[in-house]
Parts: sequence; structure tokens; C-alpha cells
Amino acid sequence: MKYLIIGGVAGGATAAARIRRIDESCEILLLEKGKYISYANCGLPYYIGNVITDRDKLFVQTPASFGSRFNVDVRVENEVMSINKDNKEVTIKRNDGSIYVESYDKLLLSPGAYPVRPPLKGIDSEGIFTLRNVSDTDRIKNYLSTKPIKKAVVVGAGFIGLEMAENLHETGAEVTIVEMGNQVMAPIDFSMASHVHQHLLQKGVNLELQQSVEKFEKKGNQVNVILNNGKVIEADIVILSIGVRPETALAQSAGIKIGEAGGIWVDEFLETSVKDIYAVGDAIEFPHPLTGKPWLNYLANPANRQGRIVADNIVFGNKVKYEGAIGTSIAKVFDMTVASTGLSAKKLKQLGIDYRSSFTHSNSHAGYYPNALPISIKIIFDPKEGKILGAQIVGYDGVDKRIDQIALIIKKNGTIYDLIELEHAYAPPYSSAKDPIAIAGYVASNIVSGIVKIASWRELRDVNRADSIILDVRTEAECSMGMIHGAINIPVDSLRERMNELPKNKTIYIYCAVGLRGYLAYKILALNGFTDIKNVSGGYKTYSTAMAPVSEVKKQIIELEHEDIEQTNKLESSKPVIIDACGLQCPGPIIRLKTAIDEIKDGERIEIHSTDAGFARDAQAWCDNTGNLLISSVVNKGVYEILVEKNPKSCETINSCQNKGKTFVVFSDDLDKALASMVLAHGAAATGEKVTMFFTFWGLNVIKKINKPKVKKDIFGRMFSMMLPSSSLKLHLSKMSMLGIGDKMMRHIMKKNNIQSLESLRDQALAMGVEFIACQMSMDVMGVAREELLDDVTIGGVATYMERATKADVNLFI
Ligand SMILES: Cc1cc2nc3c(=O)[nH]c(=O)nc-3n(C[C@H](O)[C@H](O)[C@H](O)COP(=O)(O)OP(=O)(O)OC[C@H]3O[C@@H](n4cnc5c(N)ncnc54)[C@H](O)[C@@H]3O)c2cc1C
Repeated sequence: MKYLIIGGVAGGATAAARIRRIDESCEILLLEKGKYISYANCGLPYYIGNVITDRDKLFVQTPASFGSRFNVDVRVENEVMSINKDNKEVTIKRNDGSIYVESYDKLLLSPGAYPVRPPLKGIDSEGIFTLRNVSDTDRIKNYLSTKPIKKAVVVGAGFIGLEMAENLHETGAEVTIVEMGNQVMAPIDFSMASHVHQHLLQKGVNLELQQSVEKFEKKGNQVNVILNNGKVIEADIVILSIGVRPETALAQSAGIKIGEAGGIWVDEFLETSVKDIYAVGDAIEFPHPLTGKPWLNYLANPANRQGRIVADNIVFGNKVKYEGAIGTSIAKVFDMTVASTGLSAKKLKQLGIDYRSSFTHSNSHAGYYPNALPISIKIIFDPKEGKILGAQIVGYDGVDKRIDQIALIIKKNGTIYDLIELEHAYAPPYSSAKDPIAIAGYVASNIVSGIVKIASWRELRDVNRADSIILDVRTEAECSMGMIHGAINIPVDSLRERMNELPKNKTIYIYCAVGLRGYLAYKILALNGFTDIKNVSGGYKTYSTAMAPVSEVKKQIIELEHEDIEQTNKLESSKPVIIDACGLQCPGPIIRLKTAIDEIKDGERIEIHSTDAGFARDAQAWCDNTGNLLISSVVNKGVYEILVEKNPKSCETINSCQNKGKTFVVFSDDLDKALASMVLAHGAAATGEKVTMFFTFWGLNVIKKINKPKVKKDIFGRMFSMMLPSSSLKLHLSKMSMLGIGDKMMRHIMKKNNIQSLESLRDQALAMGVEFIACQMSMDVMGVAREELLDDVTIGGVATYMERATKADVNLFI
């Protein structure tokens, strides 16, 4: 028998080795177009970032060692150009251009996937790279070592893009990630990705979300990356990590069936539509075990497993069935670990599959044992039976073992009840008696059994505030660090005495820090006759992380670093009191901070250490409210070290402007008026006052997304959509629009004179904390859906606006 294998890395090399282990007499020919076989693609970003220093360690085997150990005829730099399935032959091109033909009895395709390179102007400029193999790695490494690299741009925020961003950052470069979607890591949901956004920003990585690259321009030694909003980012190196596509050209030209998802179609034995030709790895599609629909997986584990299964089927005949992969993946993003398995909520929504999800925030191990770190878990499950459909975990420690446990349960068709039944090995350094997974199971089981009704952070964001009550059951100290707009505060411990303050004819959305006290409050109200109540899943932590503007933290850190230097010079001699609040969940760290500040003198400092990822933001808010000075904020392996100086004298100023603010009703969608409203909002926000912009009727067009998702609308909604500007880019001037020529001229002149565009002013206003409220009534009337508006917009009614307007000292109608 003669077995011929195309592709010598994950799937191909695994299959070759396995075939030899089960059949000593056959002939095996391994054809690889690159220079290397059996290497660690997954390690390439870490070699670029000098985490792996020895290049040789990337190679599991060399062509020679593999050939001699497994008695395989390995031919590198031999590219298969075509397959003749009738004659069972392939045509091969050597590196020197010569062509020859080889026959086979059985053929295996493991050609992998190729990186996407869109036909953008300037994409072939020097300094722009993709990363797929060792040769790409060598080119990037060589470029980094021969050129001064101060600024790097990574286009695409998938797993590899983020790994590259981290590794380029490690080389000392200032890194900007440009991503077309509204989040990094497309396979996970926005709420979980928002933890990663904050972490990246805290690490000093710039994020340009919802931006696509329009073109590249070579400028001296640099490349200018020009975004669709006109922004220009200078880069010494650009890494394109936009995604990959299955390498199917060879199969397609041989008449092998390509499936619906664009991968090589294979049956359960991994045989293609042509007898005796098999395929594995990134190039194939296979039904997803949860949906039965074709699915592409670009992951090493499935490729390796398939390599082994296919070897058995090639040698012994089709006996071993492949069950499919659910897409279990994990990535390190600086100090954070991000993992997912199964289907995301957004994918289920897209597929029309009913689901519920729950968020829980726990500690990686017992809080009283040192270095417990936060771990956030999202479980997605069937609302009736509780079958687990997916899970995502973000944390700093113990993420890997938990995602693997859930993956196993999903693959065995398990339910949320299995999460509770899992028997965890427990000792304080490793877990808690109730492991975070078990807690996730308990919370999910309460939802399925109907013990508690929950609301997602999105539901709360979009809720009509006039028809509902948002009840914050945290302590006053926690509320002083920030609350959800329009919420009222009744701490859970006072709820029994104060529940008469709550109406029974409105929906009450209850939230606490992470969901537990919210659940207790829910039970108190439910047992006292309140029926229309919901507990916000994941509490304030999930809501505030998902709603946090992606530029805010960075701005804060830059300011802090600057301030830090000044302050450190001024107070060199003062040693801070160190407070260890690691392992404590909110409000623990802030209570510790307050107690410690109360005990020191003016001008003295506290350095508080916390593992609560939201603490840096909370501490800033607490300092803003109390007048103390936040000197610096550093995150080190998941531990936030916050330096605060006691400075009560500025409290007076803070209190005196508590009721000030500016509100703008943006009614018009004229480009010039929209610009004027944004400029005014900027000016007001710069004075440190609270600014609210209420977008109503035509004004809604000002806050429409540029890349809007498709939304289902009724006939009137569709008619309005046709008549209204589809995004802010389509707005006209109130005068001299001249069928759009004037609008273009205006934008051109603004760009030429370095005046920010409406879109960039809009983003910056949000980043400065300006509150955008979209009028619910206008949205209903004009058929505008929530998804069409910018993500940071809050939906509200006139009551919400009036509440802000009453407190403000300037209210404008534009
Ligand atoms: C930088 C990077 C990091 C990654 N990190 C991870 C990770 O952390 N975790 C994870 O699960 N996955 C990761 N992956 C993905 C993982 O490497 C792939 O899923 C896996 O390698 C796919 O195996 P494969 O055999 O299908 O393709 P590959 O391993 O890509 O091998 C395909 C080979 O076929 C060769 N070939 C193609 N066409 C021909 C032809 N006509 N003739 C001869 N040879 C041909 C190619 O040159 C290539 O060497 C990473 C990938 C990259 C590039």
C-alpha cells in the first residue's frame, strides 16, 4: 500500500506517524510545500516576542529525524499542484520548478488554512506581514531585529492577533489593535470580551474597535494605516490577522466536494466525496455536534485528533467515527486567560436557537488564601432542560481546568446540573469548597427551575426607564463609586423596612455587585408580593464592564502616570501604608480603602492591592467622589496596586458642583448642527461637568452605527430605513448641501484642516463620559432598532432626560 499525505504539520504529520505505528509494511510519502514539518505553529507568536528564545524548540521533528524514526519519505519544498482522482496520481512541483508525478493508493489532504489578505491599497508595502508558518515568523523576527520598532499595528483582534499584540508590546512597541467588529475575540460574547478590552487598555494597548482599514500608505520607513473614519495611525510594523480560510483550491480543482461552510466536505470517517481521498484539519468542515450544521474549526487539537482517527480508517477501513469539535479554545492575553467552549449566545441568536445565559464572578481559589484572583464565568444553556450549549471564562488563574471540565460536559450532552455534581479536588490554594463551576451551576439551575427571573445587562441597558425601577441593593459606599443611570439605592439589609418605597406596578430590576445580594433581595421582594421583578445577571460588575467605554481606562492611566511622576517627586519621603485586599470581592476592597484612609492624616498615602478587576475604576470613582487623590494604578499579574493620597480639602468643590451639568436635546440630523452639538458637548465635558445628550426624532441618525447589523423590521420600519440616512456618514448640511456636494466639501475641508470628523467627535465625547440617551418613543415611531445605534448609547424616555435636565444649569435644544 502507498499512502500519500499532503501537508506536513499538525494533521498531516500526526497521521503519518500513526499510520507507521499501525502498519510497518506500507509506503508513506509526506509532501510539504514549506521548508519545515511538524512544528509548533501555536508557539510562533511567543518566539517573536522572545518568550521562547530557542528557535529549535519550535520544531517537534526535523524532516530528517521524522523520516528516519517513522520510515516516512518526507519531501519538503514539494508542492502538490493537482490531483488526478481517476488515475490516483498527484502532480508535484519541486522548489527548483521541476514537475513530477506520484501515484497513491490512499491520499490524505491536510493543507491547513491560509491567512486572509484583502485587496487593500498598499497592502504589499514593506513592513506589513501575516503570520502562518515558520518562514513568516523568520521574516517578522528579522524585521524586528533590523529596524527600530516603536509603533506596531495589529489588524484583527482574533486569538492570534491578540497574542501578537501582546508579544509586540513585550518588545517595547506601542501597539494599536484595529478591529472591524465591536469587540475583540469574535467567538466569545461582547460581555466577556469587554473584560479583555479593559485589560488591554490597562496594559497600554490602544484599541480601535468598529474601524476597518481603508488603505496603507508607505511613508519613509513607516506605514500609515488609514482607517475608514479618516484616522491615520503610524506604524513601524503591521501584522495582518484578519482571519483564515480553508485551503481548498487543490481539492476543488480535483472535483472534491466543498461544503456549505466553504471547507472540504468529509463524512464521519473523514473521507471526502471521492473514495480513498481523506481530509483533516483546518481545511475541512464538519457538522457541529450541537447544531448539526457544518462548522469550521481552526484549532490544533481537532487537527491532531482527526490525524489519528483518519490513520486508523486509512489502514483498517472506515471504522472509527469522528464526533466533531465544539470549538474549545483558550488564549493568554497579558495576565488574563480567555477561554470558550461550545456556542456563544450571539451565535445561538443568529441560529434561532433558544437559550439563557448566566454570569457569575468568583475567586479562583479560597478568598482567605493569598493570591485568589477573580474568575468570571458565562454559561449558556437550554432554558427548559438546562443542557449546556456553551461557556466562556475570563480570569487570571484556573481558567483552563474549568473550561475543560465544561467542554467535557458539553461533549457528553450534559446539563447545568452536571456542573453541580462535578466532584472537585479542593484545598484552599486551588479552589473553594464550592468551586466557581459549581456556583455557576447553582445559579443556572435557579434560572431553569424558575426560582429567579433574570435580566441580562443588555435588557437593563435598553429598558424604558420610565416604566421600570432599577434597584441597587449594594451599600451606600459601593454606590458612591458609581451606579447605573437612574437607579435608586436601597441596601439589601434595609430592604424589608423600606420596600414600601417601591411600586408594585412597575418592573423592578434588582442589581448588586455580582448577583448574589441581588438574588437575596429578589427573594425578599418575591416573598412579599412583588411579582414583576428581575435580578440582573452578573450584577454591576457585568453591566459596568460591558458598558465601560473602551478608551476611558487608557485616558485615566496616562493621566495617572503623569500625575504619578509629579506626585512621587513631591512626596518622595512618604511611604504608603500597604493594604492587602486581594481575594475580596467588591465592595470589600473599597471598604478597606475607606477605613484605611479614615485612619491616616492628610497628605499620607495608602497603597491598596486588590484582585478585583473592576477595582481600578471603582477606586477612581470613589476618589472623584470623595476628593482624595488617585496617584497611580498599576496591574501586575492580575493584582491591581492602587496608590491613593488623602486629600479631603477638594470635597467642598466636589459637593458644590454636584448638581451642575449640561444637557443637550439633539433633535436635528443636519450635519452642521450635529457637529455644533458635539463641539459644545466636548467643551462642557472638558470642564468636568456631567453632560447628557438626548437624541430624539431626526437626531437619532447622528448616533447610528456606520457598520450596522441587519435587523428585522415591519413595513413601516423598512420604509423609514429607506428614507432616513443609514448612518452619520450620510448626513446633510442644513444649508448649501447641494445634493451632497456641499456635505463632501465640508468633510474634506475639515479633514484637510485637521478638524475632527463628526464620527470621531462622537467617539471622543463618549470616551469623555458624555452620556448619550436615545429617545425610546422616537425609536418606536421611526422604526429604529437598538442594534442600529452605537453600543454605548443608553435608551431612555423623557423622564430620564428630565431627571438630568433638572439637575443641569444649561439645557439646549439643537
Ligand atoms: C500563529 C498561530 C498560532 C496558533 N495558535 C493556536 C493555538 O494556540 N491553539 C490552537 O488550537 N490552534 C492554534 N493555531 C491553529 C493550529 O495551528 C491549526 O489549527 C493547525 O495547525 C491545523 O492543522 P492542519 O494540519 O490542518 O494545517 P497546518 O498545520 O497549517 O499544516 C498545513 C500544511 O500544509 C502545507 N500545504 C498546503 N498546501 C500544500 C500543497 N499543495 N502541497 C504541499 N503542502 C501543502 C502547508 O504548507 C502547511 O505547512 C495557531 C495557528 C497559527 C498560525
